[in-house]
Amino acid sequence: MRDLSIRFQAPRGPILALRGINLDVPRGSVVGLVGESGSGKSTLALAIMGLLSDNACISEGTISFLGRDLRTLKPAELRSLRGDRISMVFQDPMTSLSPVRTIGQQMVDVQYRKREVSSNGKQQRAAEMLRRVGIPDPEHQLNRYPHQFSGGMRQRIAIAMGVLERPDLLVADEVTTALDASLEVQITHLLREFRREFDTSILFISHNLGLIAELCDIVVVMYAGEVVEHGTVHDIFHRPRHPYTQALLECDPARIETIRRDLPTIAGDVPNLLRVPFGCVFAPRCPKVFDLCHAVHPVDYQVHPRHLARCHLRGNQGNE
Ligand code: ATP
Ligand code: MG
Repeated sequence: MRDLSIRFQAPRGPILALRGINLDVPRGSVVGLVGESGSGKSTLALAIMGLLSDNACISEGTISFLGRDLRTLKPAELRSLRGDRISMVFQDPMTSLSPVRTIGQQMVDVQYRKREVSSNGKQQRAAEMLRRVGIPDPEHQLNRYPHQFSGGMRQRIAIAMGVLERPDLLVADEVTTALDASLEVQITHLLREFRREFDTSILFISHNLGLIAELCDIVVVMYAGEVVEHGTVHDIFHRPRHPYTQALLECDPARIETIRRDLPTIAGDVPNLLRVPFGCVFAPRCPKVFDLCHAVHPVDYQVHPRHLARCHLRGNQGNE
């Protein structure tokens, strides 16, 4: 994505949901996307898939995949790209599964481009993938409907469908959020296996910083529609430069060593995106704010070529 901006038309005026997003997902890598609710993570994911709602518009910038600008492709080319090369799994598996078709039928449907494979062959491929994601007795399960599975099993089925055609890019939007801790880890391990085996790149959106740290190579931190910091997983977790990233890490319950009743939070709320602040978008909540922050929108400061932070402090008072 280059300089990508997306706005939603809403009754009270346009919502500037994404502004000037630059993001790369190198082949075979896992890129983690973090940020509070409303920061624009799902909007970004849906934009890649071409699934934005009708009131959304890409007001600026480009999304390219394997060197091709998605906006210049014909509808048929786009459909085939989004069916075979890019796939997406959502937080709620019922979003991608149809309630009225058996999972076997749906997993055969996904393979509709494989004309050379017989229907039986497609069923076998489906069963094999279900086995991989830990669904016992898969041949028998293919005849069942989504509601006949537990939520965790449904999510594993949705992931099996997502990787069945070995996409180049898998977009996973909070796929573990509704699961218990042990299942979360299992799913994360599965994604890591698929990435190694199929060389699939993954854009992994999660609120669970522990999973992000375990799975991702690169971490992108979003706040109120902007990427505020971007670096290797090590940079972000050990040398965060942006006060927002620092605050996000400080509030992670898993990183707080002493048991305490009053878990820390980031004071204030994500700004209303009908009116984006003039200076730094995080200034109203930033503990390190100074005059310049309210007056001038910061540019990306390069800590090193792969580590960028959009902050006027330029690391001067960061957490070293
Ligand atoms: P969460 O962590 O809660 O899933 P998110 O980071 O995925 O949050 P988005 O769902 O991308 O956030 O929302 C970003 C902003 O865009 C929010 O201000 C939201 O209200 C707005 N938005 C999203 N979808 C629409 C829509 N269809 N119409 C109008 N505004 C929308
Ligand atoms: Mg979301």
